Amino acid sequence: MNDNELERYSRQLLVPGFELEGQEVLSSASVLIVGCGGLGALAAQYLAAAGIGHLALVDADRIELSNLPRQIAYTEDDVGRFKAEVLAERLGRMNSAVRVTHYPISFDELSGASLVTAVDAVVDGTDNHATRLLIDRFTAEKALPWFMGAAVQMAGQNVAFTGSRGEGCYHCLAPQKTTEEAGGCATLGILGPVVATVALRQVLDVLGALTGVAEVPWGMLRQYDFRADTTASLPLPKRVGCGVCDPDLKTQSQ
Ligand SMILES: [Zn+2]
Repeated sequence: MNDNELERYSRQLLVPGFELEGQEVLSSASVLIVGCGGLGALAAQYLAAAGIGHLALVDADRIELSNLPRQIAYTEDDVGRFKAEVLAERLGRMNSAVRVTHYPISFDELSGASLVTAVDAVVDGTDNHATRLLIDRFTAEKALPWFMGAAVQMAGQNVAFTGSRGEGCYHCLAPQKTTEEAGGCATLGILGPVVATVALRQVLDVLGALTGVAEVPWGMLRQYDFRADTTASLPLPKRVGCGVCDPDLKTQSQ
């Protein structure tokens, strides 16, 4: 690490359990961010600022005026442009040492398997159940950890899944592919700080998982009610016979 890096990261290098070793681990890590909205754009900025080695950004959407109250990486001038592209430019200005690749495409059945190749972890910045099911399946196949986050109105939730899924998986939690979405931010609404708080929990879990600076509550469903200021933490309802994480079924299907 050169003098410039020592100065830049000096405050986090002082944190016990992070230190030089944590910084070096971070600088060689690669994280895929699926979705560059309220969750993903904030998570990407914090990971870039902290000095992660490589970030891959995926989002097919363009920036809309209604994104600006919570997606604070973007400005009025960016409306109409691809989120992944604008975010990549911003991260490059924030920390030129971070390698950023961006894909203005959807994470789907066709693109998912290759997007999760050659990364160490995946951050969920999506706003829908169907994409989370795909992230869960593709990361389980590669034994990669992923960090789920969701927020709507005044509530949010997080789960950190290990690569092995020994604690259960997203399919155990919400198995139905055909489940009608109860509605997202576009129909139900969201406050900026609510989604930001959930995103920062994801970032802390990523930093904890990569460097060991913090315990990661793997497999715990953490639910936040920001209107009542309450938090609940429950173990995942691991499902026997789950097609993604049940070891007997996984063995049979191989
Ligand atoms: Zn499962």
